[in-house]
Amino acid sequence: MAQLPCFALLLLCSAAPLAAAPTRRSYLPGTGRFWHITDLHLDPTYHLAPDPTKVCFSSKGAPATHAGLYGDFLCDSPYRLIQSAFTHMAPLTQQQDFIIWTGDSPPHVPAGELSTDIVIQVISNMTQTIRQHFPNLTVYPALGNHDYWPQDQMPTSTNAIYKAAAQLWKPWLQAEALLTLSQGGFYSQLVKPGLRLISLNTILYYGPNKVTENMTDPAGQFEWLEKTLEKAAQSLEKVYIIAHVPVGYLPFARNTTAIRESHNERLVAIFREYSDVIAGHFYGHTHRDSIMVLLDQQGKPVNSLFVSPAVTPIKHVLEPYSNNPAFRMYLYNTKDYALLIHVCGHTEGHLAVTGIYDRRPGAAGQRVHPHHRLEQLHLQAGVQTDSQHAAARHRGAAGQFSCQVWRDPLCEPAVVHPRSLHRHSTLPQRQDQEEGEARRSSVKAIIAVLI
Ligand SMILES: [Zn+2]
Ligand SMILES: [Zn+2]
Repeated sequence: MAQLPCFALLLLCSAAPLAAAPTRRSYLPGTGRFWHITDLHLDPTYHLAPDPTKVCFSSKGAPATHAGLYGDFLCDSPYRLIQSAFTHMAPLTQQQDFIIWTGDSPPHVPAGELSTDIVIQVISNMTQTIRQHFPNLTVYPALGNHDYWPQDQMPTSTNAIYKAAAQLWKPWLQAEALLTLSQGGFYSQLVKPGLRLISLNTILYYGPNKVTENMTDPAGQFEWLEKTLEKAAQSLEKVYIIAHVPVGYLPFARNTTAIRESHNERLVAIFREYSDVIAGHFYGHTHRDSIMVLLDQQGKPVNSLFVSPAVTPIKHVLEPYSNNPAFRMYLYNTKDYALLIHVCGHTEGHLAVTGIYDRRPGAAGQRVHPHHRLEQLHLQAGVQTDSQHAAARHRGAAGQFSCQVWRDPLCEPAVVHPRSLHRHSTLPQRQDQEEGEARRSSVKAIIAVLI
C-alpha cells in the first residue's frame, strides 16, 4: 500500500493530449466505420530505470531488460504507448465514426497496489485521454475484469465503480443507458436508426468472480438481454454486442471457456436465438487477435465473434508468445449493418503473421491455410461440426464455437513505431521468421475482405 501515492501522482501527471497528424482517409461509399480498442492496461509506474526490475510494477519484479520508450513485453502500457495508438487513429477518423472500448484499464499488479479509488482514477484518466483525442466521437465502453477492485469481483448491484463509470461516460451515453450501467454495469443504446449496441457486463459470469458463483442470472442481465433483443427484433433493429470477456473457448486452452460454463451455455442459447438480429460480436480480454464462429444447433455458422488484440504488450515472463500492441477498425454496410470489411490497425505496423491457427477441439492448434474471406471461415467451421459436437457432448457443454486465431497479413501498417518493443522482443524462433515475412508485406495498406 506504500505505493499508492506513486500511482495516484503518476495518474494525475499523465493525461496530456498529443497533436494529431493532419491526414484523413476516406472509405468505401455505402459503408460506416468504427474502431475497437481494448485492454489498455495503463501502468503509470513505467519508466526507464537503471535497474530493470524497477521499470514497472506490472513486471512483478521480473527484469524488463529491453525496456524502451514505448514499453517492454514484460510490462503493461506506458502512457506514451496508449497516446501513440490514439495519435495514429485520430487523423484517420471521421465525424460519423464511433469507437467501442471493451475495458481493462488498470495494470496487472498485485491487489495491494491498487484500491477502488485508484481503479476509478485509471478509468477516469483513460476516459479523458480518449475524449481528448476523439472529442467528436461517441465511445461505447464495456467494463473489464480489471476495472474493479479487487479485480474480477464485480457485484450484482450498484457500487462506487459502476456509479463512477456512469458519471465519467455521461458525454457518450444517454439517461437510460447510464441508469442500467450504474446499477449493473451493462447498458443498451441506439447508435443510429436501425443499429443498437448492447454492452454486456460479462464479468458477472467470469469464473474467478466469487460474488456471482451460484447465481443463475446475476444482476438480472440475462432477462434484460432477452427483453432488449426481443424489443430490437420487433423494432427491426440490428444489434452489435460488445463485452470484455468473450463467450467460447479461451485461446490456447481447448477445453476451457472464458466464462463459467453454465453462464456460457445460457448466453450462447440467447445468442443463437437472436442470431438474425445480432450483426456482430466484439470482445477483448484474451489479448489475442482472433475470430470465433458461432454455430447453431445444426452446426451451421450463424455469427462471427471478433476478439480484438490488446493495446498493452504485457506477457508473463514464462509465456512463449509476445503481444504487439494493436487495435482494430471495422467497416459495415450502412443498410443492414453487416460487417463488410475488417481492417486491423496496429500501433506496430510490422507485427502481422501469416496464417490462421486452428484452435478447435481436436485440431491441435496446427496452422491452416490463410483465409481472408469470412464465408470460408464459416465453411471451415461447418466442416468441423461433428467433431465439435462430439467434444461438446463429451464435456456435456460449450462446444458451440470454433476459434481461429487470426493473424492477418493484410493488416494496415501504422505510422507509429514503438520499435523498441519489436527490436528487443523475446519472440521464439518460429514467430521471428513469421514476423520477418509480415514485415516485408507491411509496406502496402491491405484490406481483408470478410463477406
Ligand atoms: Zn486485459
Ligand atoms: Zn480482462
